[in-house]
Amino acid sequence: MKLQTVIQTLNRTAPPQYACAWDKQIGLQIGDKNAEIKKVLVTLDITSAVIERAVKQKADLIVAHHALFFRPLENINLRQPLGQNIAKLIKNDIAVFVAHTNLDAAPDGVNWTLARQCGLEPEKCEVLEPTYREQFYKYVVFVPTEAVEAVHEAIAAAGGGHIGRYSDCTFRLAGTGTFRPLAGANPYTGKQGKLTKTEEIRIETIIAEEKIGALLNAVKAKHPYEEIAYDLYPLKNRGQAYGIGLLGRPEKNSKYARYKKIAVCSGSGGSLVQKACEKGAELLITGEAGYHDQLLAAELGLELKICGHRETEEIVVPVLRKKLKMECPKLTIL
Ligand SMILES: [Zn+2]
Repeated sequence: MKLQTVIQTLNRTAPPQYACAWDKQIGLQIGDKNAEIKKVLVTLDITSAVIERAVKQKADLIVAHHALFFRPLENINLRQPLGQNIAKLIKNDIAVFVAHTNLDAAPDGVNWTLARQCGLEPEKCEVLEPTYREQFYKYVVFVPTEAVEAVHEAIAAAGGGHIGRYSDCTFRLAGTGTFRPLAGANPYTGKQGKLTKTEEIRIETIIAEEKIGALLNAVKAKHPYEEIAYDLYPLKNRGQAYGIGLLGRPEKNSKYARYKKIAVCSGSGGSLVQKACEKGAELLITGEAGYHDQLLAAELGLELKICGHRETEEIVVPVLRKKLKMECPKLTIL
């Protein structure tokens, strides 16, 4: 499998646009997009021990949550651990891909996994610090009757018509399309210079902004007309928010059931103390919080449960492994 294809899968799992604005070190940190990938090692951190394991087990790609290098590199000093790690990865043809705050925010990402473990239903939670909100468009296309099913399939495969737990949501309306092919046109039906009337179906559906390009290409491949008549309208429908920290009511059988509202934030969530409290949380579960954030929580009467940076994040590794295995069955996942 080409690295490029693995990256597309990873970007669907943790869309890069969900990352915090300051988080620039995501995506491919080392590697060639055309390289052939057979074995992938999924990890939280890229330590020398992890690289050693990747070399021994002949992995071609390491997928990590924390970046190998977070600040721009000024040099690659082979006398220092980071330089040695980079050199070893390159010498052994091991690519490095990072999904950091985009994985924190993604569905089934770090915060969603932590929320589930704490008895919250992430789909019903409020996001404490949104990093991305889905923007929707209405897509309308006019299709000759005989091509409706093919165009519908193209729309659905490109992610059009997805509403909550439903796919293939469209509306069809029959009517008469008119057009006059001009000089140089090569019409599917009708003659040059003649007004043509033809039975068409208006298909309308909803599409998320980031999928519009894929949708237009998919429809173009299946629609028989030389010129496709379509419209895109921006919508005011509020899309789902994704981001850092989740707030909700714990399920009745969870160990936090005695709280009305709790907040969770994987990794370091000290900066969310104020917000969690304002939104009515009685407890904030997070990986780490600084001294002053802990003081603030005490002042505000917000209970803090600090579980460790690694402990609140490594829970995503098996989830990510499972997802990769499912989406790329040809790969060996370590
Ligand atoms: Zn972290």
